[in-house]
Amino acid sequence: MILGIDIDDTITYTRKTILKYRKIAYPKLNDTDLLSNREYKKFLRKYMKDMRKEYAIREGVKEAWQYFKDNNFKIIIITARSNKYYRKSIKDTIAFLKEHNIFYDKIYFKQYKKGKKAFKEHIDLFIDDKESVLENVSKYGINVLLRGQSDKYQSCENWYQIIDYIKEGKYGQ
Ligand SMILES: [Mg+2]
Repeated sequence: MILGIDIDDTITYTRKTILKYRKIAYPKLNDTDLLSNREYKKFLRKYMKDMRKEYAIREGVKEAWQYFKDNNFKIIIITARSNKYYRKSIKDTIAFLKEHNIFYDKIYFKQYKKGKKAFKEHIDLFIDDKESVLENVSKYGINVLLRGQSDKYQSCENWYQIIDYIKEGKYGQ
C-alpha cells in the first residue's frame, strides 16, 4: 500500500496556529476576515518561523503511523511547503517530522498541483485537507480522501477514522 499524504491541516493543526498569530498581529480582525494578498505575505514572512514550531500534530496521527509501520506501508509526503516565506522552512519541516516520528519514504516540497507526482509514485490513496488538491489528484485516477469534511469527496475528520477507512479497503469502488 502506497499512501500520499499532505502536511498542513492534514497531519498538523496549521489553521489553529495561524489564527492565533493573526490575533497577535491584527487584534481587531475577526477569524473570517481576509487579509489582502500583500498583507498576508507580510504576515507569513514575519511569523512563519515561530508558527512552524508550534504546529501541533492532529489526533490519531501517532497511532496511524504505528499502523503504517506494522503493515509496511510506503508513505510519500507531498506538500506545498517551500522556503518562500521563511528560508529554513524545508529544513525545519524535516526536523519537525523526525521529532514526531512521522516517517516517510519520500517527501516532495513545493508541490502545488499534486496529481502528477502522486501518479508518478503509483499512490494508492491520497489524503489532503483541500478539495482543490483532491480534484487535481483524482484526475489521474487516484483514490482520494479528504481529512476534514466534504460533500464532494469521501472524508474523515480524524486519523482514527482514516485508519478504519483504510482497514475497510473500500475506496475506489
Ligand atoms: Mg493542507
